[in-house]
Amino acid sequence: MAILKVARMGHPILRREAAPVTEKEIKSAELQQFIDDMIETMHEYDGLGLAAPQVHRPIRLSVVEVQDNPRYPNKEHVGLHVFINPVLTILNKATNSYWEGCLSVPGLRGLVARPNKIKVKYLDRDGKAAEFIAENFLSTVLQHEFDHLDGKLYIDRLVDSTKLVFEQEFERYWLPNAEDTELDD
Ligand code: ZN
Repeated sequence: MAILKVARMGHPILRREAAPVTEKEIKSAELQQFIDDMIETMHEYDGLGLAAPQVHRPIRLSVVEVQDNPRYPNKEHVGLHVFINPVLTILNKATNSYWEGCLSVPGLRGLVARPNKIKVKYLDRDGKAAEFIAENFLSTVLQHEFDHLDGKLYIDRLVDSTKLVFEQEFERYWLPNAEDTELDD
């Protein structure tokens, strides 16, 4: 097991389109080890998710787990999932807005509106086809993670540029009213 180095905004790997993972790769001990390392890295930094390009590997693979998280209190939980080659379908165009953060954009939060219900088709870490329906906060988490596979960051999708703030200012000026900003619209 190893904690991987996280690429920060400005590193070109975060802006590349990632390549699909082959069946042969999924079955390799090397990729399985890499998945374990990604999970360990996500836990180490209190991330809700981590995409392979964030740890310098441009392949279509993300890990997600939402438990009690000090960086995102009071959110619905989801167990550990490994998403390989995810394909996303929007089930509801209505959006929810959440203050997103990203391990590759440390110290900042930004308000982003995303469709609030999606379906994901993907392969799990055994290469088995699976489907997952996500709503509300989890829908946002997954869209954020899968954006990384297309070279996109949440700052590309801000509601407006005045809603990109430092974490300390977020806690001071925005968090007290955060409920007002987590609206359906
Ligand atoms: Zn991110």
